[in-house]
Amino acid sequence: MKAFYIVEPFKLEMREIDKPKLKSSEDVLVQVMRGGICGSDMHNYHGVSSGIAYPLIAGHEMAGKVVEVGENAKDFAPGDHVIMNPVIACGECYPCSIGRENVCENLKARGAHHDGCFSEFIVINRNRLHKISKEISWDIAALVEPFTIAGHSTSLANVHEGDVVYIAGAGPIGICIAMVCKMLGATVIISDLVQERLDLAKIQGADFIVNSNMNSVEQVLMDNDLHGITVAIDAAGVPEIFVSFFDLVLPAGRIVSLGFSDKPVPFKQVQITKKELSIFGSRLSANQFPRVIEWFEKGLIDPRPLISNIFDFDDAAKAIEEVDKNPSTNCKVLLKFKD
Ligand SMILES: [Zn+2]
Ligand SMILES: [Zn+2]
Repeated sequence: MKAFYIVEPFKLEMREIDKPKLKSSEDVLVQVMRGGICGSDMHNYHGVSSGIAYPLIAGHEMAGKVVEVGENAKDFAPGDHVIMNPVIACGECYPCSIGRENVCENLKARGAHHDGCFSEFIVINRNRLHKISKEISWDIAALVEPFTIAGHSTSLANVHEGDVVYIAGAGPIGICIAMVCKMLGATVIISDLVQERLDLAKIQGADFIVNSNMNSVEQVLMDNDLHGITVAIDAAGVPEIFVSFFDLVLPAGRIVSLGFSDKPVPFKQVQITKKELSIFGSRLSANQFPRVIEWFEKGLIDPRPLISNIFDFDDAAKAIEEVDKNPSTNCKVLLKFKD
């Protein structure tokens, strides 16, 4: 079968490898139907993330069809449509013991520290798979994973009706978060430096867009008689923006960090204590797949407009190069393995 590798930073290769076999009785063999290209795949291509297992089969966003199931995986059957959770956790450490496997002490994420899903077939443990209705198209099913990231960050911050949520960064994850916040009944302000991204965020329901080249969140609050920000989410990964939230949000506000910057930035302890701010780190997701699948199945979220391009799997390298060249006009690029 074909598998698409990031051999090392900036080196992509389609290789012919053996089709994988079930190794444990809980394993399921899945035929990959769609894959989604994510910002983190691009980071692995650029070589800017640490701990990446090169040469690596890329990809962690997948929708596929069950082909074969192990003896102890009979809750799945050939033909089932499934989504993969890319988190591989040990199940034994402290975070695992309290249901937070996404920050497992021995975490391996597929498509980063472990081979990913950009291959024609993949073997996955049954506890990493979730069924999705056959009525949901493959293109939409492939978008479940990015929405689990949005589901996770918004549930950490307990986003609910009446909140005024400010999202910094209108990339794919920022827009997914905006859509989830709208569904939960919040007012959404989203900022970016790229107008095309903001235009898409607006189409997807953001109440207010802020092009940071020309405008500020404070100005939007003033112009629209909004009292203040209750939740601020850094989906841009810019540490200066993250610490600016300490002043921006209202007392008792909640702040979420999705960035991986290791650049130090100063802040004052008093900023956090005086307003009793709650600050959350949000990484991957825990317990979100069933929730997002339900949103999709009930039609509460329609992610189709996020798909900017679909490439045949054979053209995976072209797809990566396209995202690399035109990041602002490519929100979500899919790979199509099979019709
Ligand atoms: Zn992703
Ligand atoms: Zn663990």
